[in-house]
Amino acid sequence: MSREAVQKTRSLRERDADTIAEIARLRFSPLSLIGGRGSRLIEEGGREILDLSASAGSASLGYGHPAVVEAVTEATRDMAGASLLLYPNENAVSLAETLLAVTPGEGARKVWFGHSGSDANDCAVRVLQAATGRSRFISFIGSYHGNLSGSMAVSGHTAMTHTLPRPGLVLLPYPEPFRPRFTADAVLDMLDYQFETTCPPHQVAAVFIEPLMSDGGLIVPPPGFLKALADRCRRHGIRIVVDEVKVGLGRSGLMHCFEHEGLAPDMVVLGKGLGGGLPLSAVVGPREIMDHAPAFALQTTAGNPVTTAAGRAVVETVARERLWERAARVGQVFSDGLRALAERHEIIGDVRGRGLAVGVDLVADRESRAPVPVSTTAKVIYRGYELGAAFSYVGLKGNVLEFTPPLTLTEAEALEGVAIVDRALADVAAGRVSDEAVAPFMMW
Ligand SMILES: *Cc1c(COP(=O)(O)O)cnc(C)c1O
Repeated sequence: MSREAVQKTRSLRERDADTIAEIARLRFSPLSLIGGRGSRLIEEGGREILDLSASAGSASLGYGHPAVVEAVTEATRDMAGASLLLYPNENAVSLAETLLAVTPGEGARKVWFGHSGSDANDCAVRVLQAATGRSRFISFIGSYHGNLSGSMAVSGHTAMTHTLPRPGLVLLPYPEPFRPRFTADAVLDMLDYQFETTCPPHQVAAVFIEPLMSDGGLIVPPPGFLKALADRCRRHGIRIVVDEVKVGLGRSGLMHCFEHEGLAPDMVVLGKGLGGGLPLSAVVGPREIMDHAPAFALQTTAGNPVTTAAGRAVVETVARERLWERAARVGQVFSDGLRALAERHEIIGDVRGRGLAVGVDLVADRESRAPVPVSTTAKVIYRGYELGAAFSYVGLKGNVLEFTPPLTLTEAEALEGVAIVDRALADVAAGRVSDEAVAPFMMW
């Protein structure tokens, strides 16, 4: 038998299990893919799946968007090298100019390109420490800034307790309006107390902020909290870094999610949706920091003309079509639809988010707001997959359904998604998904 014939006898899923490292897998359902178009993924076998996740927000314009296809095809056919660190190329420089133009900020700024949110936050940590001569950072419990040494070391997600945070990191609770264990004032008090005692503020280089905490549970911060926190930090020369990787570039209903919070960040970190599905990230920051030293944060193929062509196509399409307005409008239809489900499904404790970043907090009991066990969330996702939709869960207790669909999602697709969630919740309540079925899909 030829090699190809042998392969055809085994499913993609089986071959994946045999070959792809467990350390690189975070799977929420048995879905394996052979293609995708618009908001639809094509499962092995040919079934269409409505993608309510956009591959964790990466496919910001959906799959196969003509602007991305044309830009990437053109850039690949006549390729201006493959390395921005060795030679400038038009797509990278032009994208940098566009990002500087669309990202509010004071003073002279510059752009760094990478491949992922993880490397961008890594770069930010390292250059901030070197340029400011301060080695401490502040971030939040529940925050996810990446999965490389430096970005993991300033994260506070429970999925990262296998790796120690960097020495001197101060982790603050992220005030959660739905479960107000720590109020905004209590957290600000904690910060003041840290500054007065074991964390002299002049030792702190920067605070890393998710303007809408995504992996920590799709939490919209209480109004005014992040601004108050940023003001306190700035008084001590602490830089404000805003991690827009998952919720930036139109998803929240504004171009940048931090604009909802009245923040004026020193540094903005972009990723995921920036590349429209291709590996691309960026840091936009003050010139005196970004020019700290030559050849300080190098990755050979970062900023190459193909990925930055995709980035240009994404940012230009978002700006030209004002996709943040569409995200706000379709996001409203989607979250209103999900909120209406709460009348029928006791398990829905809260529906929250901004634009097309929406979370559904599942509770065992509305009174206590106790989270459901993660197996219940996993069952809803599994049943959603069987019914034809892809989405996943977040939250430190794994009880929040997360929806970050393409910004090009239509209202009809949003309503179709609501109907699938409706049925999935009903079917899980009726016991139609077994514990065995979901056991392999509770990886975090
Ligand atoms: C996903 C994510 C990252 C890491 O991005 P990768 O592309 O997975 O490296 C960083 N910050 C936030 C807020 C994210 O959601």
